[in-house]
Amino acid sequence: MIIKFGTSWILSFLLVVICVGISFGQANVGEIKCICIDAGHGGKDPGALGAKTYEKHIALSVALKFGKLIKQTYPDIKVIYTRDKDVFIGLKERSSFAKKQKADLFVSIHANALDIKKNPSGKHVKGITTFVLGANASNHNLQVAMKENSAIHYEDDYSVKYEGFDPSDPISYIMGNMLQDMHQDKSLNLASLVQKSMAVSTSRVNRGIQQGPFWVLNDAAMPAVLLEVGFISNLDEERYMMTSTGQTKIAQGIFKGFQAYKASVEKDIVNSKNVVAPQKNVTSSKVGMNAPMYAIQISSAIEQVKGYSKLYTKQKVSEIYTNGRYRYYVAASSDLGKVQKDVKVVRATIKDCFIIAIYKGNLISVAEAEKLKRK
Ligand SMILES: [Zn+2]
Repeated sequence: MIIKFGTSWILSFLLVVICVGISFGQANVGEIKCICIDAGHGGKDPGALGAKTYEKHIALSVALKFGKLIKQTYPDIKVIYTRDKDVFIGLKERSSFAKKQKADLFVSIHANALDIKKNPSGKHVKGITTFVLGANASNHNLQVAMKENSAIHYEDDYSVKYEGFDPSDPISYIMGNMLQDMHQDKSLNLASLVQKSMAVSTSRVNRGIQQGPFWVLNDAAMPAVLLEVGFISNLDEERYMMTSTGQTKIAQGIFKGFQAYKASVEKDIVNSKNVVAPQKNVTSSKVGMNAPMYAIQISSAIEQVKGYSKLYTKQKVSEIYTNGRYRYYVAASSDLGKVQKDVKVVRATIKDCFIIAIYKGNLISVAEAEKLKRK
């Protein structure tokens, strides 16, 4: 089913026009054969510190329980772990491991924390949050991402490996605009299902789905989510997350969300039998021929949307068929700075729009496009 949220008028419009298989059509469509479960931190990186335990221990216990539930119910699904014991793994290695293993999903498990010394009232803050990759982070979400990204500091060669990115320097996050999720629709779908069922299963405060510039989700090349399963800085939640019962409830919640996601993907596979393959004929295959072009994607679908100019009325909407989807975009320009300014305006109407880069008719990452331009 469709996965967009926050733009209900577009949703209804697209549903009427298209009816089937909106979330279908990404390159990796198909049955879920392999899931990569990523227990945050590990080894010399303890993650956030609670009064009694470390984030890394909670993350690992929940990850293993979640994986076990999948294996019990779906023995054919390959479950891989970035770590299944207390060892240190770099952030980049985690997503590249998932890619190498051709995982269809990436689920990263963490526990949240606030700095109680700086803000004593923070000890009362609680609840679970699911994050997807996104540059459009609120201040709080940026703080969460910075905290998670600071794991990079434990890597010896981080300044070379992460090309000068400093996880604790907000300036580095202007680069946050470079982060984008090629599978955003699916990541959001997975996020909403997992977040909902975790909240039900644990009866914890539901802090909703958020976006943030998380390195571990960057470039995952598959639908990817990061779960903050509770606040280790809250004594009550720390206690809950330390117990086997609490961990099981959390894992069951993630598992049920996964099941719902799996079902929705499989429904799309069935529907897709009735879908005529889209013609790769559209106008804009010449777009970005000579140099990368940036634009703001406002919507996408596997079938052509008739009357797509109505998707956004303040600027001319263009269409391109690339990477298995019809994409609708505005504000195309070869100047990234200009598009970054425009995206703020468009976002006032279309909350989940994001910047894409197109080169020779294909979608590339913004970082890649910038690299090409420097050449
Ligand atoms: Zn973490």
